[in-house]
Amino acid sequence: MNTIHHADQLKLDGSCIPITTYKFSKPITEMRKIIEDNRVECEHCGIIRHKRRMVSSGEHYATPWDKIPEEPRWYCSQEHMDESMFESGSFDYFICEGCCRIICEQNPKQGHHVQYRVVDSEPICLSCYEEMILRDGQPLSDFLDDDGKPQPKIIGGMFFSTGNPEPKEAGYEELDAPSFIRFDASRFNKCAAEYIEQGWQVVVGYGSIGMGLEGTVTLLGKKTHIGNVL
Ligand SMILES: [Zn+2]
Ligand SMILES: [Zn+2]
Repeated sequence: MNTIHHADQLKLDGSCIPITTYKFSKPITEMRKIIEDNRVECEHCGIIRHKRRMVSSGEHYATPWDKIPEEPRWYCSQEHMDESMFESGSFDYFICEGCCRIICEQNPKQGHHVQYRVVDSEPICLSCYEEMILRDGQPLSDFLDDDGKPQPKIIGGMFFSTGNPEPKEAGYEELDAPSFIRFDASRFNKCAAEYIEQGWQVVVGYGSIGMGLEGTVTLLGKKTHIGNVL
């Protein structure tokens, strides 16, 4: 049975005010449910609290190409969110300099695919990177070092869809370049640099390659009016 209690409460100035409290004989199941529904678990330490006292991860994406963000995650503190999402050492998230979205550094469905490139010391997601290199081509520094020597590894470029339709639709064509890389990409990079010097803008499409080690790549180029020889 529910009961009503009357009492006086002393105020700081010494006066009294009457107050009324209610005691419920049964649990208020609806209220309990609302409270329970709003309780979430910290993904890092497992503590369970009301959402009001937790930090939400907000919008983040599994891959740069996802249009729908992942489910938000909850953490008991900013520190636990940072440790879990940005500093764990595997499948961490980064903020893309291009689109400002929070994206997983590796594709959770294909663990070995890194989903960003570093441009001007900042991470940029592959979606923004693709748009950038298709528009401008890759920089000469991807192929030659500061001394003008060919880079020994493949730097930049990416996996396009099979047959490289994305660069082809953007006006690129396949160029004649050594496509099989084994430990040393110098010949390929020298060739790419020569194309750039002849007024081409170029991008590298990966066939199957363990980055910088062994595999196949395709050099694609688009003739521009910039360059030493036209
Ligand atoms: Zn926690
Ligand atoms: Zn981006």
